Amino acid sequence: MSKNIHTEIDDRGYYGRFGGAFIPEMLHPNVEELRTKYLGMIAEPDFKKEFDALLKDYVGRPSPLYFAKRMSEHYGTNIYLKREDLNHTGAHKINNTIGQILVAQRLGKKRIIAETGAGQHGVATATVCALVGLECIVYMGEIDIARQAPNVARMRMLGAEVRPALSGSKTLKDATNEAIRDWINNPEDTHYIIGSVVGPHPYPDMVARFQSVISEEMKWQLQEHTGRDYPDAIVACVGGGSNAAGAFYHYLNDQRVRLVAVEAAGMGVDTGESAATSVLGTEGIIHGSRTLLMQTEDGQVIEPYSISAGLDYPGIGPLHAFLIDSKRAEAIAVTDEDALAAALFTARTEGIIPALETAHAFAALDQMKYGKDDVVVVCLSGRGDKDLAAFTTYLDGL
Ligand SMILES: *Cc1c(COP(=O)(O)O)cnc(C)c1O
Repeated sequence: MSKNIHTEIDDRGYYGRFGGAFIPEMLHPNVEELRTKYLGMIAEPDFKKEFDALLKDYVGRPSPLYFAKRMSEHYGTNIYLKREDLNHTGAHKINNTIGQILVAQRLGKKRIIAETGAGQHGVATATVCALVGLECIVYMGEIDIARQAPNVARMRMLGAEVRPALSGSKTLKDATNEAIRDWINNPEDTHYIIGSVVGPHPYPDMVARFQSVISEEMKWQLQEHTGRDYPDAIVACVGGGSNAAGAFYHYLNDQRVRLVAVEAAGMGVDTGESAATSVLGTEGIIHGSRTLLMQTEDGQVIEPYSISAGLDYPGIGPLHAFLIDSKRAEAIAVTDEDALAAALFTARTEGIIPALETAHAFAALDQMKYGKDDVVVVCLSGRGDKDLAAFTTYLDGL
């Protein structure tokens, strides 16, 4: 593990070579307004007070740090679960949407757009729009609309309009393209709530800061549970990388802590049906930032595949590209099959049904080595209610 790497973003929005803001001219005023204002805005006592109060009373934070006794016995180590699944709306996504809706209000925006894969970010965005009374339009790939029907129903119930993305693989990447197109057409009154640590600067940093509440709580919770405020390893699944960024944030420069980023291998890394970006990706630009992405030699994006809609994305956020490239974080790839088995194991060992995305993080535990006194935190990014159809198919096939 290399020492002395600087994980802080620089003034231009780069982590090492990764990041930046590659945007069409039309979006320049919006992104520039955000870039010049976001740090000052979120540091204001008034903003912090409102953000903290909503996280506490509306989201239900702090989320528990739970010692998973039977799972720990199975692996011969000490496993703690950071229970983001217990947040209002069932995942970590709401931490970010609460932050960004407060930003949108302060920018005087009247209309909110978002992209969504599994529908969790769409639901979290529709929720905060209902909370403050703003119009909400969510772009979602046509395939994801079919495989995440319960979340589509929730968004509609909350008053959001769900617009299908019909191009490409009809999944998250395509929904993101549609949202960007909308923003270009409506730059004045619209704020785009990006759902992960991706997109042009300042989004990756802004979203990481809103999600950093996860590791901020972990510090005092670990102190209470174990007598020291850091674990030996943190394991988190990575789609764009926001739950991982939040879980890693306060330990990025603490070399005592192993950071493990878990990607979706889909049918297998070498099958052509995969979303393991750190293995299959090369440097390029996607959705506004320079990062690792799955692309052909002439720069066409390769359609990703994962059973899990939240991990089915051809890129990773620039922070994670940097952490993996600099070897500060290690990447583990997990297949659909192993994720399904891990979801079942987690359900029957701890009585917790994880989201399919999170199940990848649990499956990665099989690929790691530990000492018996180690403390390992798994970021339990979300609950599995939305994935019951996939779990039922899996159970029927056993
Ligand atoms: C969206 C989602 C993810 C993937 O997104 P990240 O930005 O990588 O965190 C992971 N887990 C759950 C439960 C999700 O809803």
